[in-house]
Amino acid sequence: MKIDQDTCAGCGACVPYCPVEAIIFHKKDPAKRRKAFAEIDREACVECSVCFKAKVCPTEAIWDESLEWPRILRRAFSDPFHEHKGTNVPGRGTEEMKTNEVTGRFRDGFIGVGLEFGRPGVGVRLGETEKAIKRLIPMGVVLEPLNPLTQLIENPQTGDLKKDVKNEKVLSAIVEFIVPIEKAQEIFALIKVIASEIDTVFSLDLINKVGPDRDIPLVRELEKAGLDYSVNGKVNVGLGRPLYQP
Ligand code: SF4
Ligand code: SF4
Repeated sequence: MKIDQDTCAGCGACVPYCPVEAIIFHKKDPAKRRKAFAEIDREACVECSVCFKAKVCPTEAIWDESLEWPRILRRAFSDPFHEHKGTNVPGRGTEEMKTNEVTGRFRDGFIGVGLEFGRPGVGVRLGETEKAIKRLIPMGVVLEPLNPLTQLIENPQTGDLKKDVKNEKVLSAIVEFIVPIEKAQEIFALIKVIASEIDTVFSLDLINKVGPDRDIPLVRELEKAGLDYSVNGKVNVGLGRPLYQP
């Protein structure tokens, strides 16, 4: 995203709309014969399009430039309306993780794990997520192949991301995978290590099928690990294709 300095009227209306404070406002400076104006810090901008789509600019000085690789990744991970080629849905994760369990991925005896790096106001460089991926792969974790972040891995043996994507800053990116529930404690311990190494905030999403007797095995594992949790339900009647399990 860019601001045309000649057209900008210096009203400041766009500044509060940026979730990562990438719009810098310069006050009028008579000594330098300079009018007030706003400019976008290209390094800090995650290309979420909020400033543009908010339509608050009275002079239409904010313009949506055509983005090239790898900068286009900023938009792919930060604009919730941008559709990923891998998932065919907008957003940073697969449909199963975000809204609908449409393929029966979370089977009995398994837990789904999502590590959501970054947040509005903070963001994350894709290279930070690589630290987590490189910790998980040696443990035998198989990352969700359709996840947009998985598709940026250059070396599946080591978890190295493509070199040219590592410095791209995005609002948020999710590492997605499933593991047998027997591995829960091992995974929780590793996530604590990852937390000490990552230079951003992240939240941990865990998914577990509720048993016929309303038992949630994952809750016992969380209590065993001494982790605080909040149980939330997602019920999508008729939208998924549950796996047949005799
Ligand atoms: S595109 Fe998003 S991150 Fe970039 S300046 Fe606009 S609001 Fe801020
Ligand atoms: S809203 Fe438009 S005119 Fe006002 S500071 Fe931002 S870019 Fe400039």
